[in-house]
Parts: sequence; structure tokens; C-alpha cells
Amino acid sequence: MTVRVAISACLLGAPVRYDGGSKPADEVRELARKVDVLRVCPETASGLPVPRPPAEQREGRVFLSDGRDVTGDFERGAQRCLEALRRSPVSLAVLKAKSPSCGVGLVYDGTYSGKLVPGDGVFAEKLEKEGVCVVTEDTVRACKPSVEHPVAIVLGSGLGHLGSLVRPVRRIDYRDIDGFPLSARPVAGHRFEATIGTIDDVPVVVYPGRIHLYQGYSAAEVTALVRHAHHLGCRDIVFACATGAVPGRAHTGLGILTDQVNLTGRNPLAEWDGLRDVESPFVDMNDAYSPYLRTIARGVADDLGIAVEEGVYAGVLGPCFETPAEVAALRTLGVSYVGMSTVCEVVMARALGMNVLGLTLAANESGAPAVSHETVLAAAGEHADDFERLVRGVLRLL
Ligand code: SF4
Repeated sequence: MTVRVAISACLLGAPVRYDGGSKPADEVRELARKVDVLRVCPETASGLPVPRPPAEQREGRVFLSDGRDVTGDFERGAQRCLEALRRSPVSLAVLKAKSPSCGVGLVYDGTYSGKLVPGDGVFAEKLEKEGVCVVTEDTVRACKPSVEHPVAIVLGSGLGHLGSLVRPVRRIDYRDIDGFPLSARPVAGHRFEATIGTIDDVPVVVYPGRIHLYQGYSAAEVTALVRHAHHLGCRDIVFACATGAVPGRAHTGLGILTDQVNLTGRNPLAEWDGLRDVESPFVDMNDAYSPYLRTIARGVADDLGIAVEEGVYAGVLGPCFETPAEVAALRTLGVSYVGMSTVCEVVMARALGMNVLGLTLAANESGAPAVSHETVLAAAGEHADDFERLVRGVLRLL
């Protein structure tokens, strides 16, 4: 595996922190064993001595706790690490949380009291401007599967064969899943039995088929599998769906979903009894498709030579396909893939705080004449091997 990742040296156990210590994180060290690592420590690269007093950011500058302004040192160290990264590019960086150099999203507030404020470390900010996906050890930890936290995988039309890779421990009939409609029958290419087990020793729960709004089910019903996965302890959830590629924005084949437009006119949160139990019904849908999981998927695809595009998914009610005017409208909206599932599931998963990866098989061009369900299944068969390698590659890196 040659996915390249920049990682804060202190997370790997190097004694590079201001106090001469380190902050090793087991999950990050495990990731480091599976990828090609570029160790970074912008503070060491700056030439600042170790040990020294701690540093924090205040009003756009960096000060040691004895009052010395070390903004120039931090800039210099960050720039040196950035240049190393440009010589040997990475698409993902795992940096130490809260640090004035490496922190992502939250940093210490300059009072040396442990309080945090929104913001990025000096180095993290530079990486983000370069287009690198920057996360902390907390993200790696939150996405790490275990027996208590298996990875949920929900498979769409023709992609259900992935379920055959599972070493099963237990099977669950969908009819035993709370909120799943008892009357539901699978369409061709689907099976309604979840399998709990492992794929390549990674704990998983595979749902090899789903129901759709266009079959007359409610948004609450079509998201029952997501709530079930959450109830089982799953924190990561992979949605795989068949779509049409919007001409001019995507080609047929495999795709990684980057965002979504919900054009179904439905929202599972508006129909769900459990809404009162979530922290807030006003769910943040920024980065609904986890940038960390997307970047891992991209890295795996590149590493294995699997052709994959990326783009925004639009979910429509269906079941008819799109008119030429609708295809033109989708293109104008910036949509690459259009399908009849997934959007409500992603809303539910985000409401439950789950990490989402969206993968699609664009089986046809949106708006192409005479697309049948059989066409979708045939295309799925054609890409089955690549899809399987992609999912297994992602699982191995989590
Ligand atoms: S947080 Fe970043 S700069 Fe600070 S010791 Fe760790 S790697 Fe070095």
C-alpha cells in the first residue's frame, strides 16, 4: 500500500514536543504501519530548542508562555515542512489536535489555561490552503472499526455480492429490524438479510439491499437500516448506490460522492419519532460525506489503479428516469451523479453522528434512452471487481 500521509511526529512517539515528550496515539501508529508516512514536526523544523515553555496563539500571533513572540519561528518551521510536502506530495495529513502548529479547527486560546477557541495551527492552515485533507488523531480514532464499532455497508442495485465476502457471525432478517416495513420485498439484485461478521478481519455489518421512496415507503422507513447500524454500534457507514452519470460532469463507472442535493422533497428527520432524542434537529450537513474517508478512498483507488471520479450526488424520488430538461438542470446545479436512494440515509446517518462514505456505480448516462434495471445490473457486474477492491482497500486502512 503506497497511500502517502503526513503525520505529526509527536503522534508517532517522537520526543519532539516543547517539553521534550511525545503524544503517541495508537490508532495513528496503526495507520502509519499501513501507509507511506511523511513525518512532520514544524516546531522542530523551525529550530526552536527543546525543552522550552509552551506556545499558544493570540490575535494571529504565537507567543511562548514567558511572553516571547515566536510567530516568525512557527512560520519558518511550517514553511519548511510545507516544502518537504511539495517535494513529496500527500493528500492527507493527520496532525496533533489543538497545537498552535498542528491543531485543526480548535486551538488553545492564548491564556495557557487549557481553554480552546476555533482556529487552525500555523502549519495546518497552510496545508488546507494547499488542498490537503487535514484531520487530527481524533478523526482517525473516531473512524477506527472494532468489534464494538463495526463498519456498516449498505449496498445498492447489483452491488450486493460484496456481502459474500463476509465471514459471518450472525445474520439478521430485515423484518426483525425496528422500523423496517414487514411487507417489503427485495427487487432483483437485492437480498433482505444483514450479515454481521468480518471482511479481511475488519468487523462489518453488511446490508445487501435497501428499499426506496419510489416504492411508496416513507423516508423514516427507508432509513431504518441506518438507525439499526447505529444501534449496533457502527460509527462508519458506507453507502453504495447505482446512479446515472450526468453528461458533461461525470462518466459511467465508479465514483466517490463528495456532497449531495436532496431533490426527493422528503426528509427522514421530519418523520422520525426519535428526533426528540437527537441533540438538535438542525443537523449540520457540511462535510456530510467524511473528507477523511473520501481521501482514504481516493488514495486506495489511485494506489490500486482503479478508475474513480468524484462528484456531487442528487437524490430524486423516481422511479422514472430524468427528462433532458432535468438532466440539463442537474448539470447546472453542479450535480455529477443522480439516483433514487442514499440522500435520506445520509441525512439520518449525520443526525446520528456517523461518519459517511458514499460510493457509486454510475451504470449509465443520466437521460440515456431505454435504460433498464438489467442494464444497471450488467454494469454493476462489469465493475464488481474494482468495487470490491476499493471497499476492501478502504476497510484495511481504517
Ligand atoms: S504538535 Fe506538531 S509541531 Fe508540536 S510537537 Fe507535535 S508534530 Fe511537532
